Amino acid sequence: MIRLLEYQAKGLLREVGIKVPEGGVARTGEEASRIAEQIGGPVVVKAQVPVGGRGKAGGVLFADTPEEAREVARDLLGSKIKGEIVDKVLVEERLNIEEEWYAAISLDRSERIPIVLASREGGVDIEEVPDEKIARRYVDPFLGMRPFEARLVAKDAGIPREYLRDFESVLTAMYEVFDGYDAHLVEINPLVLTKEGELVAADAVVNLDQDAAVMRHPEFAEETEDFHLVELGGDVGIIANGAGLTMATVDLVKEFGGEPANFLDVGGGAYPSLIRRAILAVDDLGVSVILINIFGGITRCDDVAKGIVRAMEDVDTPMVVRLVGTNEEEGHAILKEHGIDVFEDLEEAVKRAVEIAQG
Ligand code: GDP
Ligand code: MN
Repeated sequence: MIRLLEYQAKGLLREVGIKVPEGGVARTGEEASRIAEQIGGPVVVKAQVPVGGRGKAGGVLFADTPEEAREVARDLLGSKIKGEIVDKVLVEERLNIEEEWYAAISLDRSERIPIVLASREGGVDIEEVPDEKIARRYVDPFLGMRPFEARLVAKDAGIPREYLRDFESVLTAMYEVFDGYDAHLVEINPLVLTKEGELVAADAVVNLDQDAAVMRHPEFAEETEDFHLVELGGDVGIIANGAGLTMATVDLVKEFGGEPANFLDVGGGAYPSLIRRAILAVDDLGVSVILINIFGGITRCDDVAKGIVRAMEDVDTPMVVRLVGTNEEEGHAILKEHGIDVFEDLEEAVKRAVEIAQG
């Protein structure tokens, strides 16, 4: 799975007629100030990193003048937001926000069916929104999403009557992207109702199937491999695949008396370059040990091992690896060759990692 950066996701939304704020991508403070100049008013400067919750992490800043835009862009560029180095910022016209809504089309994991989600309580992490405030509806993948279905979801979400038609258009257009790009997720959060009465996508997430996306859009490939890192404050770095397995690993580290430094889920398609980047990100937290727990299915153990070996060129922190599943033997052989502790049993691996952390 790859997560497009916000400006890329917004590019796709714009193509299907969804309104996005005017703006541009900057790699330097100078560029940022030039874009702000063109916009000619207050702007928002946003770190382009493939993680959510940037606002809370200080990755979304405001500026009233081009000079200020240059300053805040300089602050962001080269800094780290949730473990990701910021090398680009998006400079956009600042919206006059009346309300923040939520709209998404996602592939239901268990059923593999598209599901449409909408809420009037957007702008915050959707996990924090109470269930009853989120309207949901499955879509028949063969028929596609029909306008009346979009309308019903919008209604269920409590969208005011006068905006139902606009909300329906946004959802229908989002479905075009979802379908056309074989996306796993197309999300607008917040979908802003401006004081001027327009619906504007203030933030966007598009997750694509890795193989399909790279085949059709090689330009998306290099910078968009995704993982999700949450800092937990301890000194045992944790990398695993799948949210469930990652949480279980975090819990087990605690059970064995260790202090988890983070939660990092590398997801389904853990390619060597992604594993390497994940290890570097965790190492940057200043951990005493990195515990890697991968259950290979689609993910191949030899790919994971290659990523670990590549990361070793830059990382001195000891690593403890539990690696089972597809191509397990090849994976173990590669790691042993490079002197890395590798386990089949998770508890043994956790115990070893905690021992190292406790010195
Ligand atoms: P995220 O934290 O990574 O999801 O980043 P968002 O782009 O969603 O921004 C977080 C929050 O910043 C939004 O929910 C808004 O409250 C605020 N924000 C973003 N863009 C604007 C803007 O143009 N104007 C104003 N007033 N607030 C904004
Ligand atoms: Mn957002």
